[in-house]
Amino acid sequence: MKAGFSVFLFLCTLIGQAQIDVQHYRFEIELNDQSDGIVGKALVTIKFLSDASEVRLDLVSQEDEDGMTAYQVLEQRQRLVSSHKDNVLLFQLTKPAKKGEERTFEIDYMGKPKDGLIISRNQYGDRTFFADNWPNRAHNWIPCNDNPADKASVEFVVTAPSQYKVISNGLLVEEKAIDANRKRTYWKEDTPISTKVMVIGAARFAVTRVDSGYRVPVTAWVYPQDSAKGAYDYALADDILGYMEKYVAPYPYKKLANVQSKTIFGGMENANTIFYAENTVTGNRSSEALLAHEIAHQWFGNTATEKSFTHLWLSEGFATYFTSLYMEQKYGEDSFQKRLQDDRRQVIQFVRTFNHPVVDSTTDYMDLLNANSYQKGSWVLHMLRRTIGDEGFRKSIKAYYNQYKGSNADTRDFQRVVEETTGAKLDTFFRQWLYQPGVPKLDVRWRQQPNKAIELNVLQQSKVLYQLPLEIGIVYKDGSKEVQRVNISKAAESFQVPVKDMPAKVILDPNTNLLFDGKISEL
Ligand SMILES: [Zn+2]
Repeated sequence: MKAGFSVFLFLCTLIGQAQIDVQHYRFEIELNDQSDGIVGKALVTIKFLSDASEVRLDLVSQEDEDGMTAYQVLEQRQRLVSSHKDNVLLFQLTKPAKKGEERTFEIDYMGKPKDGLIISRNQYGDRTFFADNWPNRAHNWIPCNDNPADKASVEFVVTAPSQYKVISNGLLVEEKAIDANRKRTYWKEDTPISTKVMVIGAARFAVTRVDSGYRVPVTAWVYPQDSAKGAYDYALADDILGYMEKYVAPYPYKKLANVQSKTIFGGMENANTIFYAENTVTGNRSSEALLAHEIAHQWFGNTATEKSFTHLWLSEGFATYFTSLYMEQKYGEDSFQKRLQDDRRQVIQFVRTFNHPVVDSTTDYMDLLNANSYQKGSWVLHMLRRTIGDEGFRKSIKAYYNQYKGSNADTRDFQRVVEETTGAKLDTFFRQWLYQPGVPKLDVRWRQQPNKAIELNVLQQSKVLYQLPLEIGIVYKDGSKEVQRVNISKAAESFQVPVKDMPAKVILDPNTNLLFDGKISEL
């Protein structure tokens, strides 16, 4: 009986395969200069969330030249029956696990990483090793539960040729020569973090401490050829860290290393060990916004983390907006508005051809690195701040962070915290900005009326109607200005707006408070 047999198999799988919560990883990794192969030993401590007779971890399997081979899995020195294919490492437990139990497994493996650990040459031709795990590329080189919702503490013990310095998450425990040519470097991160932000880097580095001494050690790890420029450029990190601490909460880690690297991204926010693209070192601090973005991620993304990449804006939108806020306090309101205007232009351009909402369940995670997650996410926070006020916004951000630090949240969790903190009802706001695609498209016409008023006719041309406050800037002939506000919700609406005198000009959204596409003209 085919159908019944399938159901039986399905049930077995359900009972057998574990729901797991990894508590701790210890990775011992050997790097060398003779080949791009690595040798790894992983100790993975798993808490079972259900009874189980087998465990499944992610590890890219070997295909042609590249990928990993897990050649044995052990529990308390006993070899377990395991299989490693189709990027899944599956092993059978000799003694089934009970829900709530914690057990540690050893996985011995080797191979040439297909991705995730980039072994190449830097801009000076020097050999370098840089992990680059986002979004789920960690399992190219470490066996893990490669999911942002499963956080664990981690140790990296890296054996590498002696000429390299090795950086990783957490604090340095030991750096020791093991023979004439090799050394072992041991880093330990006690705070649970997602695999996407676990990292190692090995290269010739010049390391400079760049902090003011008030907070955790902040360092610049740059190529020796760039040591002076890099120390100068990355020293900005200390001030940014101070800004974020003041706005949000104390920095959640024990150090902040800023590393010049070969990440495929402009920057990658690896927990307390940020990797920046190698061209970010210029000697003229041209990457300040990038530093602010990656440092903001230490709170948003790394500590309060999205439950899944569907809610990536909780990471990228926050990092983008906090960059603008940092730039606002440092360079003033004009630079803040200019950033928002640039972001708005990018969103308008992007949504013309991309019909997904910000909360996007696509499984092509690289596709999520787009203007929805970053610039529109940032704009949502900006409009939220304008809706609930500066103080309500600040309190909500702190409350959200404090509630979800060390764990994971989704968009509804964030909405609930803001509503509880401020008393505001935000269903419409969240629905229209985050769960439906696009931006409002407005066509506004105005004409002078008798009795010191103008008539304002507003057409919403987007497919769905928005409810929003629209600010109108009225500029008089003597150069004076005022701002009036109308609340729009219909496809076509008309308003009488009082004015002091015949306006010389009427402009939309003079203070850059609304994400919209549109124009105003005189009738
Ligand atoms: Zn980011």
